Order: sequence, then structure tokens, then C-alpha cells
Amino acid sequence: MTTPRILERKDHKISRHDIQSEALTVLYGLHEHGYQAYLAGGGVRDLMLGRKPKDFDVVTNATPNEVKRVFRNSRLIGRRFRLAHVFFGLTNIEVATFRALQNAEDSDAAQQPHFKMRDGLVVRDNVWGTPEEDALRRDFTINAVFYNIADFTLIDYVGGLNDLHARVIRFIGDPAMRCVEDPVRMIRAVRFAAMLDLKIEPASSAGIMASAERLALADRSRLYEEIQKLFFCGAAQAAYGLLRYYGLLEVLLPDLGVWLGRKPCTVRCRRVAGALEFLDACKREGRTVSPALLFALLLGGAVEAEAAEAIARGTHVGLAIYNAAMAHCRRLSERIQVPNLVRQRTAEILGCQQRLLAEDGRRAEALAAQPFFPEAVAYAEFNLRGKPGADATLARLRELEAAHPTATGDERPRRARRPRRATGAARSRGPRSERARCESDGGGGEAGMREIPMAAANESEAPLPF
Ligand code: ATP
Ligand code: MG
Repeated sequence: MTTPRILERKDHKISRHDIQSEALTVLYGLHEHGYQAYLAGGGVRDLMLGRKPKDFDVVTNATPNEVKRVFRNSRLIGRRFRLAHVFFGLTNIEVATFRALQNAEDSDAAQQPHFKMRDGLVVRDNVWGTPEEDALRRDFTINAVFYNIADFTLIDYVGGLNDLHARVIRFIGDPAMRCVEDPVRMIRAVRFAAMLDLKIEPASSAGIMASAERLALADRSRLYEEIQKLFFCGAAQAAYGLLRYYGLLEVLLPDLGVWLGRKPCTVRCRRVAGALEFLDACKREGRTVSPALLFALLLGGAVEAEAAEAIARGTHVGLAIYNAAMAHCRRLSERIQVPNLVRQRTAEILGCQQRLLAEDGRRAEALAAQPFFPEAVAYAEFNLRGKPGADATLARLRELEAAHPTATGDERPRRARRPRRATGAARSRGPRSERARCESDGGGGEAGMREIPMAAANESEAPLPF
């Protein structure tokens, strides 16, 4: 057992007034029922760095069932990682129970029903432990400092206070092993480095470099969640640089990696960096950003290149890009579980650009009622940067956007329409009926996610979905 470093109330700057009232209610509720209750994770880290925490996580020696007994307004969630959520209206506080550190070499652990590993990855982790064990199983030292509500001290078993002071990210334990256990930690390291402007210390850096390929084994739905946190953290451009540096981008988004090639600072690299700089600017200005806009910005260049051949063969530009985007997103989903609706919206944003920017403003007008219109305009804004006439074009598009407020920010799945009876081959196989099938797919299978048949492309007046 290690003696933790304890920082008295007078020696640190966290005050209980910095803590969200709902989190305090949970901390005091547990404490009054005789349980240990600590604030943990990103909340403590962010307060120590002088930032406003995004959320407050609580950790306790009460088991999830005991937490449920203390708070009637709670629910247990998660299989891989069992937790209690305590609800206060729309706010919810996550309460975890101290967990023991488990690893592949620990044969006792491997026998426990609450702990499971597959291919070196931890797939279930519900073995309760002590505060020290809990700190040791966390990802980085800066994320493992506890704030004790009983006496307002900070408790540090892993050197997190020093690392916060030195502004470094350090894996707890052997970096390569921690990356193998849970490859998503590599993406988290990049996110914290970019978002908090911290350095990844050399051994941790080497661990990521050596384990980058393992990211391919990470759970696809967790990757979808993490990728959003990563690119919407306000430092997407910096995160992109780090992903490239560690060889993580190529594993996460293989097609984009191939398109970018190995060399840094090429025109293609600058295009992606510029797209992410634009995304960061949108975040700073408080504008709405969506996963579909993110994928359109990230993949736009690669998709256009992929569509070039079909365009050269005479396919309608928008349709060729739409289809290339759908194909690209389908391949992408082998790594990241991107919902069908997001994939389709990405293709629509990219596919409609030619119509959106056509001299004849009527084409843009016809698009304005589409739910993807605001994101398509945002993408156009990025694409038009520095080009002559950009201001006038954007002003015209913004006017249209303002005149169709129902479309703004609509990320809700559209209601499935019953496909109308076909009256002819072109109608039943054409783009409109294709989209109806996409919509009625409801986000589940691949059925509605086919590309639009090229034949339809050449029927120039066919009503394209974008
Ligand atoms: P933020 O909430 O600002 O995104 P966070 O560090 O609080 O950052 P959470 O996902 O809320 O991130 O996780 C809470 C805490 O749980 C982390 O600070 C860390 O201590 C621990 N944790 C989260 N993910 C992992 C992981 N993959 N491996 C080990 N510990 C983790
Ligand atoms: Mg958190």
C-alpha cells in the first residue's frame, strides 16, 4: 500500500463552491450515509488547471446497488463498467464504485466473473477495490487525483499533482500495456494534450507510438463517441497534428490516411488542417457543429478525389460525390460505428455543393428546405474561403437559411415515409425512392445505405436528393 500525497484545503485552490450543486448533493448524500465520497477524474483535473469542468464524476466505496438505495432518483447502467447515474432533472451525476486494477497476468483476476479480457482488451471491469487501486486503474495521472468532500483535501496516489503542475500527460503504469488493454486511451491522450495544451511525456509518447496499430481493435461505438469528443473539443486542428504524428489517423480513418500519404505539410494535409481550423472557429463562435459536418470537412478532399473518375466518365458531379461519400463512409464504418443517418447526411452535404454554389440561385433555393441545408452552407463557407465573390454567395445562402428556420440544426431522424407505389422504372429506381429507402432504414441496417445507381445520374433532370 502506498501512502498518498495529501494536499490540505489551505494548500490548493479547489473550493466546494466550484463544484456543481448536484455533484455536491451526491457527495454529501453518500458521506452522510457513511460512505467515502470523492470527486474524481476530469472535474478535479480541470479545476486544478483553472478551467471550468464539463462534468463532475463521483467515486465512492458504495456499490452501485448501495448508491441506488441512497438515491431514489438513480439508475444503474453499463455492463462493461457498471455505474449509477443520479438524476436531477436534465442533469445527471455519474457515480462509480472504487475498482481494482486488473491485468492480463493476474490469474486470480482472470477467474473473476466481474472481470473479462479478450485479445488483451479489458471487456468487463467490475471488481471493486480500494481508493488506491481505483487511482491506479485510471488512464493518466492527471485524471486520478481525488477531492475528498469529508475534509476538502486532495488525495494523490500517482503523482498527478506534480504532473498537473508540470502540465504533462503520463500513463499510470506501463504505457504500452495500458494502450493494449484499452486502445481508446490513445485517443484520450491526444484529446487531453490538444484540448488542455499539455505535453505527452516521452515514455507515454513512445507507448502510443508503439501501440497505434492496436486502435483497430477498439470498440467501434466507443470510437464514435471519442472521435466526437476529440474533434469537438475546440482544438481539432492540434488533435489532427497529434493523430498524424502518432500514426493514429491512418488506423482510425484508413482511407483518409491513404489519400493524405506519409509526407507532412502537403496541399492535402493543409486542406484537412484548414477544415479542422474552421471547425475550431465554429466552436469558438458558439455555432452548431454536427458529426455529419465534421465528417464532410474531414473527408471532403478524399471524397472529391474518389469521385473524379466517375465525373470524368460523365456522371453528374453531385451524384458522383454523393456516391463516393456513401462508399467512403461505409468503409469508414468498419472502424468507427457511424450511424446511418450521419453517413447519409455527410454524403448529402458534400453532394449538394455544386448545386448550392451554382450561379443560378434557384438551385440553392430548392435545397433550402432540406434538413442538411445549414451544414451544407457551413461546408460551403469553408470551401469558399479566400475565393472571389465568396462574401456575396455566402450572404445569399445565409438569407435562404434564415428564411427556412425549420431546417436549422435539425439532427432528428426524419420520419420514415411509406414508399409510394412505383409508376415506372425510373421512378422506382431513381434517387427519390432511394432516399425514401434510406430514411425508412431508421439507422439500423445497411439496407437503405446503397449508393444511387449511376444510370440515374445521367437523367439530367432526375430529382436528385440534393
Ligand atoms: P472529460 O469529462 O472532460 O471529457 P474526463 O477525464 O472526466 O474528461 P471521462 O470520460 O468523464 O473523462 O472519465 C472520467 C474519468 O474516468 C477519467 O478522468 C479517468 O480517470 C477515468 N477513465 C475514463 N476513461 C478511462 C479509460 N479508458 N481508462 C482508464 N480510466 C479511464
Ligand atoms: Mg468527465
